[in-house]
Amino acid sequence: MPELSGTCLCGDVTVEATPRIHEMGTCHCAVCRKWSAGPFMTFDCGDNVVVKVQNSFGVYKSSQWAERVFCKICGTSVAWRLQQGGEYHLSAQLFEETANYPLGLQVFIDEKPDNYNFAEKTKTMTGEEVFAMFSSPEES
Ligand SMILES: [Zn+2]
Ligand SMILES: [Zn+2]
Repeated sequence: MPELSGTCLCGDVTVEATPRIHEMGTCHCAVCRKWSAGPFMTFDCGDNVVVKVQNSFGVYKSSQWAERVFCKICGTSVAWRLQQGGEYHLSAQLFEETANYPLGLQVFIDEKPDNYNFAEKTKTMTGEEVFAMFSSPEES
């Protein structure tokens, strides 16, 4: 049984997933903020994700290696994923029962605007540190 199940605003897209860690992450990069109207809060679910769609979801290639999944009907931001698969970060806002997943990581902290800050004490990574993690030899 997946730990979490959720939907987009209109219900056309439903997702089931089990996060790899019991934490929520957030990304402050300019692309995520524009795409999701704020810092993008996610669960790192690896490839342990089932996405079900009644009609169709949209996919936008946001870089050479990553893409974003969204509902074509209501516009909900659903997921960030690697184009070659294996790495799925689902929007935390798809789910209702998430109180036991504390905010644990903030990435692209160097792209966070100065006009907001989270009160939670978390790990942080710069964009450079994130790119270094994804370009490890086995994933290239
Ligand atoms: Zn929808
Ligand atoms: Zn981002």
